Amino acid sequence: AKRDATKNVTLFDPILLYARQMRTKLVSELRTAIDAGQLALYYQPVVDMATGRIKGVEALVRWNHPTRGLVMPDEFIPLAEESGAIVDLGRWVLRTGVAQLHSWAKSVQLSADFTLRVNISVTELQRLEFVDEVRDVLSNWSVSPSQLVLELTESTLVTGTESERYSLLGLRQLGVGLDIDDFGTGYSSLNYLRNLPVDVVKVDRSLIGNVVEDASQRRFVAAILELIQSCGMDVVFEGVETKEQAQVLRSLGCSTGQGFFFARPAPPAQLESILRAAAEG
Ligand code: C2E
Ligand code: CA
Ligand code: CA
Ligand code: CA
Repeated sequence: AKRDATKNVTLFDPILLYARQMRTKLVSELRTAIDAGQLALYYQPVVDMATGRIKGVEALVRWNHPTRGLVMPDEFIPLAEESGAIVDLGRWVLRTGVAQLHSWAKSVQLSADFTLRVNISVTELQRLEFVDEVRDVLSNWSVSPSQLVLELTESTLVTGTESERYSLLGLRQLGVGLDIDDFGTGYSSLNYLRNLPVDVVKVDRSLIGNVVEDASQRRFVAAILELIQSCGMDVVFEGVETKEQAQVLRSLGCSTGQGFFFARPAPPAQLESILRAAAEG
């Protein structure tokens, strides 16, 4: 049957209804996924583009769903945030990542300034217990706070509440690193540069665009890099996919990158081989 666009026929749209049911199902499955051991962390190197040295890794969560296979975070992190499951999920990610770093510190030679980067969401940041939990996890695994960097997306920080400031200052005092993630995708990017106690800005991969072919895009990126650096912060460029992109970014004064060109996110065992090979030179 053909739809009449002027009438509200979507109310009982079977496809929408189905989508809603799937969503509800996924939320309830997500709640049990953590206890069932279905979550996994992949790790992607963050690289000094001049030397190729691995400066650290970013932990990226995946869900090994019993019937759907490997589910990517863009599909379930928003659900976790809406449903509140993000608190348990985030706690699991932090513990698992820090425990992994502890284990790598023993099994492969890591430099003292090697960092683990963990993505956190606003719901986690707004909990008054958050700073204490981070402190406990670090001390349980004898990992120095300076080896942990928490990545905050702009949307995460949009509310700017008291509890957020409390957590940010507490994390600061603890000595944990703080990054702004996905820089350049939100509207208030420039404000964050001035008002947040962060050390590093990760520029979103959408800004890499055709930086190689297009001179005006290059000037745009150069200006952004200068702006960030003039605020006294370091830059990590994400989404570096080609050698040419890495070269252009370096020529524009950005020394740290992350992307498929250097390494894709990989399970711990694979990352360990990469780290071991790097340590042996
Ligand atoms: P993000 O924090 O911006 O992470 C970078 C994303 O870009 C990752 O996607 C990574 O696989 C992808 N990526 C890395 N290099 C390249 C490249 O060269 N080209 C392209 N096209 N993509 C690249 P992923 O793993 O699917 O994660 C998506 C988002 O999910 C993350 O974006 C982050 O916002 C969120 N996320 C992932 N893990 C967690 C977590 O443990 N907690 C929270 N709260 N969010 C997470
Ligand atoms: Ca991130
Ligand atoms: Ca990002
Ligand atoms: Ca992102």
